[in-house]
Amino acid sequence: MKILVLNSGSSSIKFQIFDMQKTVSVCKGIIEQIGESIGHIKFVYEKGKEITKESVIKNHSVGIELLEELLIDNKVLKSFDELGAVGHRVVHGGEYFSEPTLINDEVIKKIEQVSPLAPLHNPVNLIGIKAISKVNPSLIQVAVFDTAFHQSIPDFAYHYALPYEYYTDNQVRRYGFHGTSHHYVAKEAAKILQKDINECNLITLHLGNGTSMAAIKNGKSIDTSMGLTPLEGLVMGTRCGDIDPAIIFYLSRNLNLSIDELDNILNKKSGLKGICGINDMREVEQKANSGDKKAKLALEIFCYRIKKYIGAYSIAVGKVDALVFTGGIGEHSSTVREKVCSDLFDTLGIKLNMETNLKHDTVISQNDSRIKLFVIPTNEELEIAKQTYKIVKSAK
Ligand code: ADP
Repeated sequence: MKILVLNSGSSSIKFQIFDMQKTVSVCKGIIEQIGESIGHIKFVYEKGKEITKESVIKNHSVGIELLEELLIDNKVLKSFDELGAVGHRVVHGGEYFSEPTLINDEVIKKIEQVSPLAPLHNPVNLIGIKAISKVNPSLIQVAVFDTAFHQSIPDFAYHYALPYEYYTDNQVRRYGFHGTSHHYVAKEAAKILQKDINECNLITLHLGNGTSMAAIKNGKSIDTSMGLTPLEGLVMGTRCGDIDPAIIFYLSRNLNLSIDELDNILNKKSGLKGICGINDMREVEQKANSGDKKAKLALEIFCYRIKKYIGAYSIAVGKVDALVFTGGIGEHSSTVREKVCSDLFDTLGIKLNMETNLKHDTVISQNDSRIKLFVIPTNEELEIAKQTYKIVKSAK
């Protein structure tokens, strides 16, 4: 069975098709600048063959029609009818969804209802779903939510100490994101540990442009660093993560900044970028190595925040089996991993293997490290395809 995975953004659609019998990617690409004067399509298939095209792409439905044409012209599919299902990344499932879900009218209504919690994402995720329905109404569609894996977090960990009615009336609580990635790498870590996932205690670190950590006990998420929105928690490329909320009132009153301006500053002008002017970790490291003080500081703040969370989550989880690094930085930055894992022997018995860390091997801990250290590349699209396949099989 072939599964199409879609990640729809405001002006783009990322796509990938998997052959689930062989669990391999058949093709992938991106349709960009939808709704602009000229749109772009990039399509990679048959191990590296690449096509780029320019065309006016009026809206997401036109994008989906173009995708079908492209797949037929390049003999990837005879038509969309050949697909077993479409799996959609949907950012926010609120408290409604703790599992990937077969899409119907009621599910669409619920995704709409939680859209105020993710106004930049859920509406465009829905546009992708509706575009598929328009082009091929009989195709089975599945929603895989970024928040779903974290729905197992207990109430004392997801509640904020705010007036209770903000939770009951306004859905203010910690939801967490990157759930598909945390879940995927947790299952991969279980394979390496040769244990059932339900017996694994893990701390997973998704370190990309957005960064988050999850505390996983017996295979279930019991805490995570992102909150109501993806702004809370670790330091990110351009997001501040945890700050004293009173800073917002202080800046607003003293610098006369509006809520929208502060929203923009905290989300887009803070994090690594706010401290040293650069949000790309590769460049931050280069500048830090050449002696730039702000870049060095940015790197230290980034890693220190992660260490604090490791401390907190090892208490939350209890006996931790492994710490898992993933995401662009987690997978590729031996410097960040070294800084994060340093000086954790006395407290947590963590011993980094410098050699395998430099080589980005899967196992980067020494044999006698009490907590194992793994580098596991994330694959959110494959996880969405697997979850979609599971639902389609069980529905038949
Ligand atoms: P996104 O969250 O957008 O999916 P990624 O997971 O691709 O992002 O991560 C992007 C981050 O990974 C960037 O900060 C980038 O600099 C960093 N990164 C990628 N390769 C390296 C590397 N070799 N060393 C350090 N950082 C890296």
